[in-house]
Amino acid sequence: MWWGMDSVIEDDDKIGSEQAKQVIRRAIAMLRPYRKEVVLGAVVMVLGVLCLLAGPAFLRFGIDHGLGGSEGRLRADPDALNKAAIAFLAVSIATIALARAQILLFTRVGEKFLRDLRIRVFDHIQSMSMAFFDREQAGKLVARMTSDIDSLQELVQQGLVMFITSALLLVLSVVVLVSMSPLLSLICIVAIPLVAVASIWFRRESNRAYLAVRDRIGQTLTLLQEGLSGVRVIQAFGREELQERRFNSRNDAQLDAQMTAIKISAFYFPVIELSGVATTAAVIGIGGVMVEAGYASLGTVAAFVFYLANLFEPIQVLSQLFNVLQSAGAALTKIFGLLDTRSPIAERVGAVDLPTGGGIEVRDLGFAYDGRNPVLTGVNLTIAPGERIALVGPTGAGKSTLAKLIARLYDPTEGSISFGGVDLRDTRLSSLRSHLCVVPQEGFLFSGTILDNVRIGRAGASDEEVRAAMALIGVEKRFAALPEGLQTEVRERGSRLSAGERQLVSLARAALAAPEVLVLDEATSNLDPGTEADVEAAMVALMEGRTVIVIAHRLTTAARADRVAVVDDGGLVEVGTHDELVAQGGRYAAMFATWSGQATAPVDEAPELAHAD
Ligand code: ATP
Repeated sequence: MWWGMDSVIEDDDKIGSEQAKQVIRRAIAMLRPYRKEVVLGAVVMVLGVLCLLAGPAFLRFGIDHGLGGSEGRLRADPDALNKAAIAFLAVSIATIALARAQILLFTRVGEKFLRDLRIRVFDHIQSMSMAFFDREQAGKLVARMTSDIDSLQELVQQGLVMFITSALLLVLSVVVLVSMSPLLSLICIVAIPLVAVASIWFRRESNRAYLAVRDRIGQTLTLLQEGLSGVRVIQAFGREELQERRFNSRNDAQLDAQMTAIKISAFYFPVIELSGVATTAAVIGIGGVMVEAGYASLGTVAAFVFYLANLFEPIQVLSQLFNVLQSAGAALTKIFGLLDTRSPIAERVGAVDLPTGGGIEVRDLGFAYDGRNPVLTGVNLTIAPGERIALVGPTGAGKSTLAKLIARLYDPTEGSISFGGVDLRDTRLSSLRSHLCVVPQEGFLFSGTILDNVRIGRAGASDEEVRAAMALIGVEKRFAALPEGLQTEVRERGSRLSAGERQLVSLARAALAAPEVLVLDEATSNLDPGTEADVEAAMVALMEGRTVIVIAHRLTTAARADRVAVVDDGGLVEVGTHDELVAQGGRYAAMFATWSGQATAPVDEAPELAHAD
């Protein structure tokens, strides 16, 4: 039953009047570029409503003058009837034409507004730092771009214009009715309590039902999405039936919610309809007596019947659209809230460009993802220009965190990191990104060709430049040998390229970007020997002549570096050249001894050995 749905109603789907005012103000500010269209649309809207209201007035004139319906007037005037009929037809056609123009004008503005909003949200999300993405669930961000924008779309496409038109029509109809016959208008008052109670009830219940439907649709979609992306696991474990049962039950819940919403509407609308019919009957009955008694003309009573339709229809529309308006308001509030979130990695006023050829200084560095539990403490490290330093250590030691801080994906909680003497927090972000490039462990591929994917390293690079960058690290031939060569479509999520090939694309991107500093997270996945050799060769070529911080998962990579830093328990426990550290007989020497015995084992695959003293 629908009153049992309270648990699914989200509080953030409701907004207070102060919030609503703010949202409206901001939305209006965003509409500024389209103010001409909005003003024109408003004029068209008012004209349309006036035309709609003029129709019954002409009817009244026609009946009273053309048919002799007015008190004291016994002779009919056919000319007046013709004039009234023509005028009625003219305003009816004008009403239709104006309604069309109004829909086109407002929908165009609305769609442009949504386009602007989508761009702003997308750009904003893209500009946020990693700390923001740690905090925000990806699902919530996607919801801002999908279901929240959909709520607004609903409003733009059918809601807002109808809402304002109906409100205007309702108010003006009351004014016209009262001015035409205050006495006859009193009859309408009788219907008001019933209509008001029914409308308040409908607004509340349909709001709950509407939110419940939205929630259930969301649940069904989540399951559908999981079912699609996890189809391999589901089939591999033969869980199709379980998945089907889960889907069926969610689907049934959605059906129940939809039915509840329909039942509420199916009750409310006939009540309003009935009130309209009863009021009309009363107007005709009592109006007839009033005409007899000379208190009203026949034309007035006939016009009243028409105006009553203008009164009850808008009430239905307003009640129906209230939820759309409410949820669009809530959606806009959430979207504006997201747009107001400042990135923790913001560029300072007066930020400077990084100097060329500087070294990296890590001073008393401390960091906690949550601001409380430190992941790194007291880290000091100096990296000379052109030096290649390998970070090694067990899983979860903090190697990636240190690398991310050096790339300023996060800011330190304590201490500082500087490049060429400039604190990273004082640098211009564009300068930092052009100086330093991060190659993540898993190369992400976007839909498009191999060439397009490598070009992400430097937007605007020509095909020749992309090929040259690939050739520089020795991967061009390998991809050119594919049937479609470098134009091979990698498809979404790169399902047509192997893990090793994805890494090669990722390395080629960095080669094209040609940064001064490279932060490289070596891949841990085991590759076939041929690809492994290609990846190694590409890495070696890419590191040539650059300052490199590599998170080494293979000791060959560590041994090749100028210096090795062993990270453990959130700090640097050993720093030195490979030979020095082996001779020292400490943590690294133990790792090396283990590795020498197991030739190809990645460091992290034997964490307990990595811990051995
Ligand atoms: P691996 O070799 O497995 O990548 P690592 O040495 O690079 O390990 P980090 O990824 O730096 O280790 O992680 C260090 C600690 O910080 C771990 O305890 C990890 O759980 C935690 N951590 C990493 N990323 C986050 C994050 N985004 N939010 C909160 N804690 C995190």
